Amino acid sequence: MTAYLVDVHHYTHTCPANPDEPHPYDTRRTIVAVNPGGACRNPVTVSCGGTTAVIDCRRHVPREQRCPACRITVIERTVTFTHTGLHGPQHPTDNTGIAA
Ligand SMILES: [Zn+2]
Ligand SMILES: [Zn+2]
Repeated sequence: MTAYLVDVHHYTHTCPANPDEPHPYDTRRTIVAVNPGGACRNPVTVSCGGTTAVIDCRRHVPREQRCPACRITVIERTVTFTHTGLHGPQHPTDNTGIAA
């Protein structure tokens, strides 16, 4: 099994859609480590135009049918939050042309 170790960072805010409860509006995932699962345990032989090749099953079959070595697991090492506060209705043009 190939394992990806990731750090997850959620940016949360409150906004008019849900002013009472901070909720994530952006999520960043950073891969910190990859632990390769090793050689494919169920290689697939494909033939094309007279040549045959043996390829890892991860390159040929849907995820559910892959051998254990080719499955991918994501492990969330840390999950952190940044609360950016209340986001009001966005009116990007409000400030243009106004001499404050
Ligand atoms: Zn929101
Ligand atoms: Zn495989």
